[in-house]
Amino acid sequence: ATPTSIMVGTGRAAQMGVLFRKGEALQSLKDAAVIAVDKTGTLTKGRPELTDLVLAPGFERPAVLQQVATVENKSEHPIAQAIVTAATAEGLTLGTLDRFESVTGFGVRAEVDGVRVEIGADRFMTRLGLDPAQFSGEATRLGDQGKTPLYAAIDGQLAAMIAVADPIKDTTAAAIATLHRQGLKVAMITGDNRRTGEAIARQLGIDEVIAEVLPDGKVDAVKRLKQEHGPVAYVGDGINDAPALAEADVGIAIGTGTDIAIEAADVVLMSGDLGGVPNALALSRATLANIR
Ligand code: ADP
Ligand code: MG
Repeated sequence: ATPTSIMVGTGRAAQMGVLFRKGEALQSLKDAAVIAVDKTGTLTKGRPELTDLVLAPGFERPAVLQQVATVENKSEHPIAQAIVTAATAEGLTLGTLDRFESVTGFGVRAEVDGVRVEIGADRFMTRLGLDPAQFSGEATRLGDQGKTPLYAAIDGQLAAMIAVADPIKDTTAAAIATLHRQGLKVAMITGDNRRTGEAIARQLGIDEVIAEVLPDGKVDAVKRLKQEHGPVAYVGDGINDAPALAEADVGIAIGTGTDIAIEAADVVLMSGDLGGVPNALALSRATLANIR
């Protein structure tokens, strides 16, 4: 491509809310075989709500919710906000927090008024020597609805299963349908539960799901997609997406995402959703066609 055609292409893209931070990305995007997307905050709103709380025998809702919300009040994860909001709505007053610790990819833990409280994924409970299987029927049912099951342990005992649901953005389904018409495969990479990821993928017609990925695992997932399918464009919004954005052939950040993701990306979508990706791809193809 000539420098002029690249300039015209990137200028036209900017008018559509797609910022090409690097001119080469306009040339390489047209070669992508797969669009890999992060789930939370990219496909979904990233603002989950608490939908279910199932107690183990001997535990009561106000006490469990109060203890768990006290811990989550210190966490930055979107899940944490859902739990704190639910506790506040039920008029609960948070307790006194001590020794807070975030276990990346697993959950959070702390002491609340001297009582040990842990909350996170099933693998976190397993790591604590607890067996989340007593909730497996409910967890399966909720996961199949696209909800994320979490588990709370209080004083070393499994106390509750809590489900949160993160609504899909209004524009996501149409963007994925357009990408399919443009001949691309769409893959989802998520740290969330497999069942939850697969339910969301089914709703959106996503071709491949890589779930229960630990924060360092997103880069490996991108490498694997490259080997299996060819050039990969990765779309994400979070701090933990930055390495995958850098590893991909084209890194695309959601403009409403974190600064760290934006800095790691070649392309930034000002619209704050996936809708800019098919537009960027069409422009990449058109720009390169014009010069032939
Ligand atoms: P993602 O951004 O895909 O959610 P993370 O690595 O941040 O990936 O989290 C992976 C999983 O760890 C979450 O789906 C959740 O099950 C658990 N987790 C992480 N942080 C928290 C938290 N603050 N409260 C409860 N669970 C959490
Ligand atoms: Mg995200």
